[in-house]
Amino acid sequence: MRANRAAETGASDEAAGATAPATPRRLLAALALVVVGGMWIYTAWTIHDLRRQAWDSARHDALGLLGTSERAIARDIELYDLSLMTVSSRLNLPTLDGASPELRHLGLFDRVSQARGYGSILVLDEKGHAFLDSGSLVPRRLDGSDRLYFTIHRDALETGLFIGRPWRTRLSGRDMIPLSRRFAYADGSFAGVIVGAIELAYFREVLDRLKGSRDFTVTLDFTDGSEVMNTGQPTAADAPGLREARQVGPWPLRLSVFLPATAIDRAWKPQTHIVLALALLLSLGILGVVGLLHREFSRRERAERQALAARAELERLAATDALTGLWNRRHFEVSVTRCAEPAERARWALLSIDADHFKGFNDRYGHPAGDRALKQVAAVLCGRAAQAGGSAFRVGGEEFALLVRCEPGEAAMLAESVRAGVAALGLPHADHPRGILTLSVGMAHGALAPAASLQGWIDAADAALYAAKRQGRDRVCHAGAQESHPPPRLSAAG
Ligand code: GH3
Ligand code: MG
Ligand code: MG
Repeated sequence: MRANRAAETGASDEAAGATAPATPRRLLAALALVVVGGMWIYTAWTIHDLRRQAWDSARHDALGLLGTSERAIARDIELYDLSLMTVSSRLNLPTLDGASPELRHLGLFDRVSQARGYGSILVLDEKGHAFLDSGSLVPRRLDGSDRLYFTIHRDALETGLFIGRPWRTRLSGRDMIPLSRRFAYADGSFAGVIVGAIELAYFREVLDRLKGSRDFTVTLDFTDGSEVMNTGQPTAADAPGLREARQVGPWPLRLSVFLPATAIDRAWKPQTHIVLALALLLSLGILGVVGLLHREFSRRERAERQALAARAELERLAATDALTGLWNRRHFEVSVTRCAEPAERARWALLSIDADHFKGFNDRYGHPAGDRALKQVAAVLCGRAAQAGGSAFRVGGEEFALLVRCEPGEAAMLAESVRAGVAALGLPHADHPRGILTLSVGMAHGALAPAASLQGWIDAADAALYAAKRQGRDRVCHAGAQESHPPPRLSAAG
C-alpha cells in the first residue's frame, strides 16, 4: 500500500500547507493589535498629559492669586500700622502738650487713614483706659486692661505690631481684627497702648475681588492654625484638591488657597471624553476593517483548501479502479517506476496475480456475480498489501499486482498468503477443477530475479504467473525458481 500512501500523503500535505501557517491572518491580527494597542497607549498618555496640564495651570493660577492677595493684605496692615506708628511718635511731642483738644486731636490723627474698612484708633493709658479716639474728640469709654492687645504690650518691652484674635464689636456687631502698638514715656517706660482694627468684611471683599469668579477658597488664618476668615465655605482638611499657602509679610498670618479637584477636573475631563470617543471610534474602525480582511482571508483559504481537496480527490479517482477501489493500471505504471533503478529494485517484490478460469465463472454465474467476486478478491489483496506496507493494483479485467518493499522471504509469504486468502473465501466455481475461485501468483523479487530493465522485471513476474498457470493454477511461482520445485504452500485451501 506504499504507493497508495504516497499519493494520499502528497494530497494531504498540500491541503495542510494551505491551513497550517495562516500567516497573512496572523500578521494582520498582530498588526491590528500593535496599532490599536499603540493608539490606546497614546490615548492614555494624552489623557494623563491633559490632567497634568490642568493641574499645572491651576497651581500657576493659585500661586498668582496667593501672591496678589498676600500683597494686598500686607499692604493694608502696613498702611494701618503706619497710622499707629505716626500716633505713637506724636504722643510725646511737647508742642501738643499745651494745645487745645481740637488741635491735639488734629495733630495726632491727621495722618490716620480713614479708608473704608479701617476702624478708629484708640489710645489707652498705662491702666488700660482709653483717653484718645481718632473717631471723636470725646473718647469712647473703654477699659482694655484685661485685653490681650493691652497686656502683651504692658508685659513685654518690644513686641512691635501685635495682631490679635478677631472679635465682634459690641456696638456695630462687625468682625474686626485688632492691631496694636506700645507707646512709652521719654524714659522708655510703658505709657500705654495704641490700638485699632481692620474689618474682616473688608479683607473678605478684597480677596473676593481678587479671586473673581474662580472656584478658589481663600483663607486667612494665624500660623498656629486658628482661622481668621475665608472667602467661601470652610473646606475639610482632607478634601481632594489643590492647596497652596504663604505667610503674610513678617506677621504670624498665613494666606492659603484651595481649589477643589472637581473644579480642576472640569478643565480637562470633557476633553478626555472627546479623546476617548475618537480612540474608540478609530479602534472599532480598525477592528472592523481587520475583521473584514480576516473574513476575506479565511474565505480564500477555505476556497483554496476546497480546491486542493477537490484536486486530491480527482487525482485519487484518476488513480483508482472504480469497481474494486484498488489503485488502477495507470497508477501502477507510475508507482512501479520507483523500482527503475536496479539497486532500488533489489529491495522490492512484484506480485503478478490472475483469477483462474474466470471466464468460466462469468459464463456460469453471470457478469454481476463476477464483479462481486472480483471485489472480494480485491478486498483480500488490499488487506494483505496493507499489512505488508505495500500497494495493491487492479491492472486488467481479472488481473492484479502487488508492489511491496520487503525481503524475499517476506515476499514469498505474502504471495502465499494472498493465494490462500482468496482460496479461503471459498467462492464456489463449478467449472474449476477445485470447485472454488482461486488465484495464480507470479512473484519477482528484485534481489532474486535481477532483470536488466524495469520492463524485464515486470515480464519476469508475468512469466512466473504463466508458470503457475501452466503448473495447474491456484499456486505461487517465483521468478528465477525451478518449475520442478514449486514453493511451499500455506495450509489454507488448495
Ligand atoms: P485463466 O485461468 O487462464 O486466466 O482463464 P480465464 O478464463 O481467467 O482467462 P481469460 O483471459 O480467458 O478470461 C478472462 C475473463 O475475465 C474474461 C472476462 O469475462 C472476465 N472479465 C474481465 N473483466 C471483467 C470484469 O470487469 N467483470 C467481470 N465480471 N468479468 C470480467
Ligand atoms: Mg484468468
Ligand atoms: Mg487473464
